[in-house]
Amino acid sequence: VGVFYRPLEKIAAVIETYPRGIAGFRRYQELLATEPEIKDGPDAIDAPKLRGDIRFDDVSFSYDGARPIIKGIDLAIRAGETVAFVGPSGAGKTTLLALLPRFYEPTSGHITVDGIPLEGMKLNSLRRQIGLVSQDVFLFGGTLRDNIAYGRLGASDGEIFEAARQAQLGPMIENLPEGLDTVVGERGVMLSGGQKQRVAIARAFLKNPPILILDEATSALDSQTEREIQAALDALAVGRTTLVIAHRLGTIRNADRIVVMQEGQIVEVGQHGVLVEQGGVYAALSG
Ligand code: ATP
Repeated sequence: VGVFYRPLEKIAAVIETYPRGIAGFRRYQELLATEPEIKDGPDAIDAPKLRGDIRFDDVSFSYDGARPIIKGIDLAIRAGETVAFVGPSGAGKTTLLALLPRFYEPTSGHITVDGIPLEGMKLNSLRRQIGLVSQDVFLFGGTLRDNIAYGRLGASDGEIFEAARQAQLGPMIENLPEGLDTVVGERGVMLSGGQKQRVAIARAFLKNPPILILDEATSALDSQTEREIQAALDALAVGRTTLVIAHRLGTIRNADRIVVMQEGQIVEVGQHGVLVEQGGVYAALSG
């Protein structure tokens, strides 16, 4: 199936349902390769259906045990809220959000969802409720249908088609001679960056998780495509707790709150207008 599939299979053996639900994550391959084997504790419970109240309590993290990357983060996110994380490259945005699906464990501090500590929930039951949409979408050689169904194995045709429609893949599918049965990837139709992102979005619609992590694309898309994808992402975020790793300031003005990070710390939190008026780091970034 190609070089990308193998590490997934390896991990899948360890963490049964996990890779299915993942639409990809920036450096996802890397994360999979380096991920320590996280085992469920003896008292870990099956997570109930989560609302998505997320709390970081004095959370710190270091990759190598020496250099701190995340430093004492305190942050409470309400269920349904959309929070955008901004800040210079290397500030720790991706790392902070990678702690939520437990790609990594905090070095100190606690993270809870709906008041339940992450480590108190079985990993599968937690990860089933977190959707990831990133620019580096993992597509395997197979039909478009199978690639979308990766969001939730066992989904019906109707559900897959509806997810594709919500991700604004409808017109593309209609233009393909074999529709959802079209083979994509190396041996089939090559999808553009924007189309791949829509597949990732369709997977997330299908998965229907209460918590969503969006790693916004840095790659350039034409402005029409960008608008369509933004519209699909906005629709996807409705009713979910949505954490956006934002690279383009223009797209985060609608976030309920913006968290500005620098060197592993939160330096400002607030709404776009308030932060601009404040004239601090965010104002300078968005200047
Ligand atoms: P960007 O906007 O460029 O994505 P970011 O704010 O998301 O940046 P991170 O990707 O979280 O920042 O990186 C924070 C720091 O952690 C950086 O110094 C980076 O080099 C380091 N880092 C990231 N991933 C790893 C890893 N797997 N192992 C070791 N160090 C890492």
